[in-house]
Amino acid sequence: MEMMEKSTGLPELFGSMVFGEKIMKERLSKATFKAWKTCVTSGSELPLAAANEIAEAMKQWAIGKGATHYTHWFQPMTGSTAEKHDSFIEPVGDGTVVMEFSGKELVKGEPDASSFPSGGLRATFEARGYTAWDPTSFAFVKDGTLYIPTVFCAYSGQALDKKTPLLKSMDAVSRESIRILRLFGDTETKRVTAQCGPEQEYFLIDKGLYQKREDLKLTGRTLFGNKPPRGQELEDHYFGQLKPRVAAFMKDLDAELWKVGVLSKTKHNEVAPSQHEMAPIYSDANQAADQNQLTMEMMKVVADRHGFHCLLHEKPFAGVNGSGKHDNWSLGTDTGKNLFNPGSTPDQNAQFLLFLAAFIKGVDDYQEALRVTVASAGNDHRLGAQEAPPAIISIFLGDELDRVVQSIIGGQEFHGEGRKTLKIGIDMLPPIPQDNTDRNRTSPMAFTGNKFEFRMLGSSQSISGPNIALNTMMAEELSQFADRLEAAADFNAELEKLLKEVFTEHQRIVFNGNGYDASWIEEAEKRGLANLTTTADALPSYISEKNIALYTKHGIYTEEELVARYNIHVETYNAQIAIEAHTMDDIIRRQILPAVSAYAAELCRRMGDLTAAKVPVVYETKTCEKLAILTDALLDATEKLEEHLIAVPAQAEEAMRYYHEVIIADMAAARSAADQLESITDEKYWPFPVYSDLLFSE
Ligand code: ADP
Ligand code: MG
Repeated sequence: MEMMEKSTGLPELFGSMVFGEKIMKERLSKATFKAWKTCVTSGSELPLAAANEIAEAMKQWAIGKGATHYTHWFQPMTGSTAEKHDSFIEPVGDGTVVMEFSGKELVKGEPDASSFPSGGLRATFEARGYTAWDPTSFAFVKDGTLYIPTVFCAYSGQALDKKTPLLKSMDAVSRESIRILRLFGDTETKRVTAQCGPEQEYFLIDKGLYQKREDLKLTGRTLFGNKPPRGQELEDHYFGQLKPRVAAFMKDLDAELWKVGVLSKTKHNEVAPSQHEMAPIYSDANQAADQNQLTMEMMKVVADRHGFHCLLHEKPFAGVNGSGKHDNWSLGTDTGKNLFNPGSTPDQNAQFLLFLAAFIKGVDDYQEALRVTVASAGNDHRLGAQEAPPAIISIFLGDELDRVVQSIIGGQEFHGEGRKTLKIGIDMLPPIPQDNTDRNRTSPMAFTGNKFEFRMLGSSQSISGPNIALNTMMAEELSQFADRLEAAADFNAELEKLLKEVFTEHQRIVFNGNGYDASWIEEAEKRGLANLTTTADALPSYISEKNIALYTKHGIYTEEELVARYNIHVETYNAQIAIEAHTMDDIIRRQILPAVSAYAAELCRRMGDLTAAKVPVVYETKTCEKLAILTDALLDATEKLEEHLIAVPAQAEEAMRYYHEVIIADMAAARSAADQLESITDEKYWPFPVYSDLLFSE
């Protein structure tokens, strides 16, 4: 029998719902296509005539894909995405309609955006903001709607979203990188692009079980629950075989992502039971940010279709690994070169070392700026725990690259040929292999061959903030280097001096040891590295003088924008802890205490029956006593929590400290009593599914 090889149809499927470059080339006039291309490569404005033609072509194409509506899709400072759908229909006066969509509607929309957080930037009387198409990210069709990626600004011109500053930071790092490239004789490169590939972790749990947990529904994480008798000890889940229902979900997810142009590439099981990961092929940081948002949304939707609920929270389960996001970041030229590739000639090596030096200096100079971009109530459960990078920022270079750096500093030979130090621009670097050691995996910022992997991101957060920080700190350091090197009489001599200086002065930020080791915290303190353990500790650095100077110098944020964002972060933190605390209180009062009381009553009744029958009641008595003690403790803790919740200070920053210092401790006490009760209560009485149900439901 002959088997016909069935086509996967993947090349046809991929990007089939995207109004991408190829479609634009086919459907636009040469002049308009060129206008768009110029706008993308040089950042110039799109002329209205071109916008009109693009709008018409986009509309025709989208209608062909079944779209009836369009939306300006944007990323407000909530960290998620927002959309408002308008239909294409336009009445023509005789009772019929036509499908209309003009250039003006493409480049500018006006959502009534009064409910998006503005951090005080926008007075309510001028509550509207406007959105403008970001021509560097492609429009796509999803669920009958044309999605137009847009920036979102207040009428005063201040950015109210995460895309605007990201685009500005990409321009800044491109500008400063090119100054450096010119010094190395590169006359061709016109644009340097920050590129990134975010690896996304998530949990899948059964939808029916999820529905029974008020904490998961309201806060995204479990506020109660004992570690199951079996957790991740066997590590048999990591890269293990996919269960059929999970495999079906992943297949469906890939297909959906491919349609809208997301280069979903790898998928595998993670360390914890029910935990998984998806990684796309990297793209420019702007598209990567859009697509990661899209990926997270799609995960939720597709999970639902498969009877799952997708948890993106950083720590859904206590005692079980949490979820993060790895932001793989590098810089690439429009001529196809990766600037973090060590290279194959001494000259390329020298250039690589300069970009490396800028990165090392940048991370050291702006530790706090980087740390604060990953601060959130959810991520506080991960960073510094023994499963995720510590809250201290450091860089892992790997043994080979570290040896090179040390040789420049002046100590050791860089390879075994008897030479003392590396002659920049003359000697070849030894090969720098990709480091995949366990040590590497404990680092918050690891060099992995030709890119850096920033591992502190929370699984649910937007990757924009961290990339804005990376791009901007790089722009700053490169501009300092360029100032100095452009003025140098002898470029090579100055370069060698600069590298030696930078590597020497910023040695403290390089750490190649085990980041999970307790001794590292002490060592880091000796080195004077920042250790901002929680969000409440980290957030103030958002508006430190140094942070404001960095971002305003490069035109990424105004001071007002930074203050506004800081306010939003503080308010978000407060709101999240408040919701968790109230949810906890509600579950204890309405579910746990009544259940435990009912069980105690049942035990008492049994004790009566058994005693009458002259049967010993040791188990019943002991359990009843324990239940009584723990119930008292739980009630006490709950009353204390309730009292404290009434006394939350009105001022936002004071409230943040108070939530951090008082409320979180109250919640821990209540949880401890509740979890002990769970361990002795008849499962028939326990009001919701426990960890082993949730994590081993397959
Ligand atoms: P792992 O981290 O599991 O070893 P890889 O190194 O293959 O996996 O890649 C992880 C992610 O890094 C992927 O999203 C990949 O596309 C991305 N990536 C690879 N090279 C680069 C680069 N030069 N710049 C940015 N991201 C990159
Ligand atoms: Mg990785």
